[in-house]
Amino acid sequence: MNIAMDGPAGAGKSTIAKRIAKELGIIYVDTGAMYRAMGVFFHRRGIEPQDKEGIGAAVREADVTIRYEEGQQQVYLNGENVTGYLRTEEAGRMASAISVYPAVRRKLVELQQQMAARQDVIMDGRDIGTVVLPQAELKIYLTADSGVRARRRYDELTAKGEICDLEEIQREIEARDYQDMHREESPLKQAKDAVVVDTSDMDIEQVVQAVSRLYQDRRKEKTGIQTE
Ligand code: C5P
Repeated sequence: MNIAMDGPAGAGKSTIAKRIAKELGIIYVDTGAMYRAMGVFFHRRGIEPQDKEGIGAAVREADVTIRYEEGQQQVYLNGENVTGYLRTEEAGRMASAISVYPAVRRKLVELQQQMAARQDVIMDGRDIGTVVLPQAELKIYLTADSGVRARRRYDELTAKGEICDLEEIQREIEARDYQDMHREESPLKQAKDAVVVDTSDMDIEQVVQAVSRLYQDRRKEKTGIQTE
């Protein structure tokens, strides 16, 4: 039983997916972290995101792997654990810029499909329901108003002691959404059979409950069909 969860930046996908994974005892796969690791790779090589040829040539040398250590996803780039470098706005921007290239996507999609074939997963990203796991039993499109998403990101960063500007965060979030929704290759869009969960007026517990209920209903349906 695989769950695909897509949606724009800052909708709470990873928070919710982690909780659901724990509740159901399945693996959480954060595919954004893989694109972020790729972004780190090109950045370190001094390859600009606009350099299509440079990216196409170097991508072969980037080996992104995922391991689970004490239940947490760790991302390795050519043998080095880069997990600690991935959660910055800069890494997010970089990831969005390099994720437009088919060569980059092909490599990561293959890895993601292998992971889902081996075990039950909840996987989050932008193209999971549409491209990576089109057969997923449950597809969620998690979204929220961009002002609400910016405010959540702002609260998260200020709680960590970072100084930031709410309006700038909102502008960055909207720019990243625009880029992700308008690229040619696997743009962010709702799969036809996805259930939309708008979390603008919901807290984390309410979202976890809503998604768990959808999962239970889907399971019941599936078991019902099998026993008929
Ligand atoms: O989800 P997260 O914010 O970590 O993703 C970073 C960026 O990676 C996204 O803005 C998007 O451009 C890209 N991405 C993608 N496909 C995915 C996951 C992430 O293109 N499945």
